[in-house]
Formats: sequence, structure tokens, C-alpha cells
Amino acid sequence: MEEKISQIQKEYLEKIGKAQNLKELDVIFLELFGKNGIINALSAEFPKLPKEELPEIGPLFNKIKKELETAIEKKREAIREVGYKKLETEKLVLQGDALQLKKRQGHFHPVTQFEKETIDLFEKLGFIQFEAPHIDTDENNFGLLNIPEGHPARDLWDTLYIDSKLLLRTHTSNGQVRAMRKYGVPLRIMIIDRCFRYENLDARHEHTFEQFELVYIDKGVSMANLQYLSEYFFKALLGQDIQARLRPKYFPFVEPGAGVDSECIFCKGKGCKVCGGIGWLELAGAGMIHPTVLKNGGIDPNIYSGIAWGFGPLRMAMLKYGVEDIRKFLSGDLKFLTK
Ligand SMILES: [Zn+2]
Repeated sequence: MEEKISQIQKEYLEKIGKAQNLKELDVIFLELFGKNGIINALSAEFPKLPKEELPEIGPLFNKIKKELETAIEKKREAIREVGYKKLETEKLVLQGDALQLKKRQGHFHPVTQFEKETIDLFEKLGFIQFEAPHIDTDENNFGLLNIPEGHPARDLWDTLYIDSKLLLRTHTSNGQVRAMRKYGVPLRIMIIDRCFRYENLDARHEHTFEQFELVYIDKGVSMANLQYLSEYFFKALLGQDIQARLRPKYFPFVEPGAGVDSECIFCKGKGCKVCGGIGWLELAGAGMIHPTVLKNGGIDPNIYSGIAWGFGPLRMAMLKYGVEDIRKFLSGDLKFLTK
């Protein structure tokens, strides 16, 4: 028995010394200490040994067991050490298959792409971007825009209130008076950002959506500027031959207000299913900024006039990219986003 143990000791110390990598060491470890390994097999033989041999064999067995364990652990450390050194000195060289891997590159969200195009377009006309908070006071979102508390026009928005004073802004117009107070006149700003409403969700309505708004205030600004900006925008984004038209429409913070239609891009004004046979699609809302709103922004409405012009980038992107359900934009569905 003693001889057998010494034999194993010699054989395995040699094997451990020669091991080249961690995998080989693992194999050796299992051969020795695994469930069906040599050590267990030896222990199973102990009861059969003559009683007088046990006091000597027991400690020897334990000593060698420990020695083998330590040798494996030390070798493991040594192999790892070599690996770390290599990492420090070697350069990673990709060959063969590694170079064939197809590169998967990300891209902007379709609505972001559309917004970037829009921003570029109006920057050329001297508009600068302006930001206003998503959580705002009732005063900034409604009061200063000529929609005081209790005014029936507030029913036009299904507002998400946080408490009696704070709300999630229902439109980007909460930046209007802020911008007037910050920059004064003449003013050319655009606000493009998220807004929130308590909506019944369907293919055309989302609780979280984007809005784009232009505010232009100067001496002599009129509805003619609105017509120009609308055509400039539609022609650039939907096609050179697309016309724009203004139609009277009520919005509480403008006077007069207008719905902005583009000629239907599908039938070019002849009338089709998408436009309901009218030949026009309502894409934006606009109007002359109400004198009360100008006054709230510290601007004299007897000298200056202004226009506000806005649309929903999600709706426009639906039209431009032929998307039928508005909810797809926020779904996080990669199949849709990479299409
Ligand atoms: Zn049509």
C-alpha cells in the first residue's frame, strides 16, 4: 500500500509539472479527486488493510493528498500568471472567421432622424432650438397662454396632473412665454420635444408623443409668413410639388388660428382613401400669437406680432415612412426599427 501511494505521488507530481493549460489541470484534478478518482478508490481500500499498518499509512496518505492538492493549485496560479503576462505584451490579432463577422451598426430612431431633418431645415432660416421642462406649472402650460383656470378650452387637453400646481406638459407651447422673457424680440425659436396626454391609446393616439413648434415674433409678421413656412416645410420633406393651405381653426392661444393642410401626397389632391376624398391632409396647427400671450412675455403687441406653428413629428413620420400604427414608434421592437 505504501508503495502504491508513493507511486501515485511520483506519477502525478510529474503530470502536474508537465500540464500546459488549465484544462489539462482540471482533467488531472478529476482523475485524483473526482467522485470516482484515485483518492476515493484508495480510501475505500483502507478497511481491508491489516490493523497494524493503519497508523503509518493514514498520515502518509493525508500528507500526499495535501501535497498533490497544493501542487495543482500552485500550477494553476503559474499558468494564469503566464496568461496575464501575455495579455500585457501581445496585441490582439484578428484572423479568418473573426474578420468575417458582420458588423451590426446602430442608427437613430426613425422619429429622431425625421426631427434632425426638420431642425436642419429651420436652422437655415435662423431658428434656434429652445428647451422647456417636461414637468411644468399649470401657469406656464395654460395660464400664461391665455387659458386661465376654469376656461372651457382646457377641456381640449386630457392633462396628466402631478398635484394641484404641477403637470406633465401637454404641448411644447409651455416654452413660448419663457423664450419671450429670456430673449425678447425679434425671436425665432423652435421647440422639438416630448409631450404627454391622458389618451385612450389607439393606432393614432399615444400618451407620450413628440411635438415640433416654431415661434417667430418680429415687426410686421403676418399670416403670409405662416403660408410661406408651411410650404417651405412640406416641399422639403414631402416633395417639391406639394402645396400647403391654411384653414380657419380655433386654438386658444392664437388669434386667428389656422389648421395647416398639405396636398395629399398619395393622390396629389385628386381625392383618395387616405385623405377621405378631400385631396388635403391636416398636418399642422398654427396662428397669430394672441396679444395677451405677447404681453405675458413682456412684448408690446402694438409694435410686434408673432406666429406659432406646430405639428406632431410622429404623425408626420407615419406619413413619410408609411407607418400605420403610431404605437410602433415607442414599442422598442427592433424588427420595426431596423426595417
Ligand atoms: Zn388623397
